Amino acid sequence: MKIFLKGIIFVIFTLSASQSKDLKVDEKKSILFVYGGWEGHEPVKCRDLFVPWLKKQGYKVTSSPSLDSYLDEKLMNTVDLIIQIYTMSSITKDQEKMLLNAVKERGVSIAGWHGGLADAFRMNVEYQFMVGGQWVAHPGNIIDYTVNIINSKDPITRGLNDFSVHSEQYYMHVDPSNEVLAETTFNGEHAYWIEGTKMPVVWKKKYGKGKVFYTSLGHTVDVFDIPEAITIMQRGILWALGDLTD
Ligand SMILES: [Zn+2]
Repeated sequence: MKIFLKGIIFVIFTLSASQSKDLKVDEKKSILFVYGGWEGHEPVKCRDLFVPWLKKQGYKVTSSPSLDSYLDEKLMNTVDLIIQIYTMSSITKDQEKMLLNAVKERGVSIAGWHGGLADAFRMNVEYQFMVGGQWVAHPGNIIDYTVNIINSKDPITRGLNDFSVHSEQYYMHVDPSNEVLAETTFNGEHAYWIEGTKMPVVWKKKYGKGKVFYTSLGHTVDVFDIPEAITIMQRGILWALGDLTD
């Protein structure tokens, strides 16, 4: 009898173990990739760079050219991460409310770069409170500048060296609570009064229960040809999903 019971317990244990394994396979995280707004930031090319990579990682991706996706309750209730490249433009009250609630209350993460996240919806200060910064200038337009890694212990920037960029050097109004991982220094050539000013380029933060990841790199999609730039963005996305291992 004892042996029989042990056998049953063994069978139940093995079954439940294999079931939980199967469950993990089914638990693919889901990403909403929203693209649009000002065409100069190449939202479609960005989609074509990032979406295939996300799918290759095994994520379920919904890409949408419309902010109305934020109104899709079913979608917003199942998504784990929102990636948004949607410069300027405007967002309706309802769209903004659904987006902010998903991040703040449900703990959905949000990630993005350059103006697609931090120069979107200029009238919406609560949205900016979530992002942690708002673009205000890029003195000299397309120039050469250096990105300095200031946290080399964080898994997002670990092992990366400082690197050069030929693009817009974003001057931003930023949230002092951001956890800054990389920054750039303005040399004053194009706006003399900001000489020596250090400005965050990469940060992570929380908004309510949700994680926020941002980099000001990425004026055009070719900035992501720089190995450090694409590595930072990809690792930032994985961090936002809770999938970046230490
Ligand atoms: Zn730009």
